[in-house]
Amino acid sequence: MSKINVNLPTGAAMPALGFGTWQATDEELESALNNALECGYRHIDTALVYENEAVIGKVLKQWLDSGRLKREDLFVVTKLPPSGNHPCLVRKFFTQSLDALQLEYLDLYLIHTPFAFKYVEGNLHPTNEDGEFLVDINTDHIAIWREMEKLQDEGLAKAIGLSNFNERQIKRICDNARVKPSNLQVELHVYFQQRPLVEFCKQRNITITAYSPLGSRGITSFMKKLGRDFPDLLSNPVILEIAKKYGKSAGQILLRHIVQRGIAAIPKSTNQERMKQNIDIFDFELSPEDITKVDNLDLGEDGRVCDFAFFKGLNKHPEFPF
Ligand code: NAP
Repeated sequence: MSKINVNLPTGAAMPALGFGTWQATDEELESALNNALECGYRHIDTALVYENEAVIGKVLKQWLDSGRLKREDLFVVTKLPPSGNHPCLVRKFFTQSLDALQLEYLDLYLIHTPFAFKYVEGNLHPTNEDGEFLVDINTDHIAIWREMEKLQDEGLAKAIGLSNFNERQIKRICDNARVKPSNLQVELHVYFQQRPLVEFCKQRNITITAYSPLGSRGITSFMKKLGRDFPDLLSNPVILEIAKKYGKSAGQILLRHIVQRGIAAIPKSTNQERMKQNIDIFDFELSPEDITKVDNLDLGEDGRVCDFAFFKGLNKHPEFPF
């Protein structure tokens, strides 16, 4: 079975299995991205706030210059940071990302979060003396979206979209947009299957990308510091039983379940063996009975891991989404 794409309303094909890069250090990411490209990853997910676009750009340039890859083979996604959620700063941050990635265009540019930080030169995470984020409460989604539309008009971003927005916020953008969002990137995994939001987006022809598709040990480690614990998806007995039946790993079952719903997934791994496994999910199909078993693991809102509680003071922003 060949690899699956998720088709954007622009006509572009986004590979359903992408490579997440959050929390990968520069040193590990350079060799990890080389390995990922060797294993066949072509959809790369980053963000200006991950502070790794320069390393990604360096590796991509080597592959493009050597002719091992053509630009059109790649699908590169990055995101406008919360400090850039001001209409006059959209282009500045977009250009900064494009330059760091050493590309002439992005395949998809997302607004990373619906809330905004105050813009402080050289500080992507401005806080006060109590460690609370300096939020900018005057965020104007429609005015920001107009700037995003211009990037797509000019071909600098082949598609534009949103991340971490809720239904109300997405609806307002759609109702006022000339260029509709092509994609929504949100937390999505078997414990938090986002059924209502996925249905809402489907009706509006917005594709979905699942972040933290394996339950994100990165985020859960933050949450543990706040005294909150989350069950480990990868050791769920139902998942392990299905994995055994298909001769696959737990991670492969979790990812296959997402992709079989027509949703893209962007697991992060810097481990060669695990990244290989994560993209090797196109030679089997979950049966309807097994899909139902996995569907039944959904905890709804209780399954959400990433509620940004680790960013103090954010819930004071009027556009805090959850
Ligand atoms: P994730 O992909 O669900 O989990 C990553 C963790 O799982 C890493 O600790 C990784 O460790 C481990 N892992 C990977 N494959 C595995 C496997 N097959 N078996 C066991 N463990 C495995 O979490 P995430 O990094 O939070 O999310 C993925 C990507 O989504 C991010 O990298 C980022 O690109 C994006 N993201 C976006 C947002 C947003 O706000 N838009 C938020 C969070 C994440 P090793 O590296 O050691 O394998």
